[in-house]
Amino acid sequence: MNSIPGIHHVTAIASDPQANIDFYGGVLGLRLVKLTVNFDDPTTYHLYYGDGQGHPGTILTFFPWPQARRGRIGTGQVTVTSFAVPDRSLDFWETYLQHRGVDGKRDRSLFGQEVLSLRDPDGLQLELASTPDAHPDRAWEHGPVPPEYAIRGFHHVTLTVEGYERTAELLTNTMGFRLIESKENRFRYSTQSGSDSKAGTIVDVLCAPAARPGMVAVGTVHHVAWRTSTDDEQIQWRKTLSGQHYNVTPVIDRKYFHSIYFREPGGVLFEIATDPPGFAVDEAAETLGSHLVLPAWLEPHRAELEKVLPKVRLPQAKAVSA
Ligand code: ZN
Repeated sequence: MNSIPGIHHVTAIASDPQANIDFYGGVLGLRLVKLTVNFDDPTTYHLYYGDGQGHPGTILTFFPWPQARRGRIGTGQVTVTSFAVPDRSLDFWETYLQHRGVDGKRDRSLFGQEVLSLRDPDGLQLELASTPDAHPDRAWEHGPVPPEYAIRGFHHVTLTVEGYERTAELLTNTMGFRLIESKENRFRYSTQSGSDSKAGTIVDVLCAPAARPGMVAVGTVHHVAWRTSTDDEQIQWRKTLSGQHYNVTPVIDRKYFHSIYFREPGGVLFEIATDPPGFAVDEAAETLGSHLVLPAWLEPHRAELEKVLPKVRLPQAKAVSA
């Protein structure tokens, strides 16, 4: 069995879709790569952000639920989502965020990495992690952030769990991660697949037995998805995990990837998602995210849905060349 190549996407819950679009598209400079609806509740949006093409490893998605209550960040969750930014870009980011009224805190992680911590409009905990490993071709070049400083996909996610041993066992014995660093109560793992750059292959497990359990709602991460290359590999993962008594869902067609879900021993919801088919499956790569896309079975209801979905202003791509 191959190891997991890295993070595929992270899905979180927001309140106001416009504030979410303005922040991730207008401030952080990610590309809105898909504006669609929640397939399980088509009267609400599902927003996908990423690099120019929405490569696996760059995708942050949101369910904006304007009426939902605020959640609580705590154990059993991804508590921090860290983006990779090129080395020496945090001075830029600090000033840039200040000018946009976003509080950012410069810090050094336990492992000595320079980071800038910030929260999104709903309180979701984010981090910009300075790294020489930032993928050079994972920046969205037509957003508000100059490409040399732009976010290059994920660096890592932090799983906060009450006891880390069984989570660690799943990561290392089953999913192909290996421990690369540990300090105090933080354990850093990366997948073994050699040539891939490290950003996006890392997961930190934070052991926090005294912390309160998280409550998934607005301002919290719903799940983290790990990559798999093919549908066949995904079936293999399903067999392996079921064989270890994980309660794994059947394969679910999410249109842009295929998914299986299970809960890891620390309570975090894990998904394994296929790299293909990707976001250009139902609109041209050049115009990703520029209009509301519906799956075929909802297309007959477009007029009704457009009436109930909140109106949103989409980010303006600047100087898009043909
Ligand atoms: Zn997902």
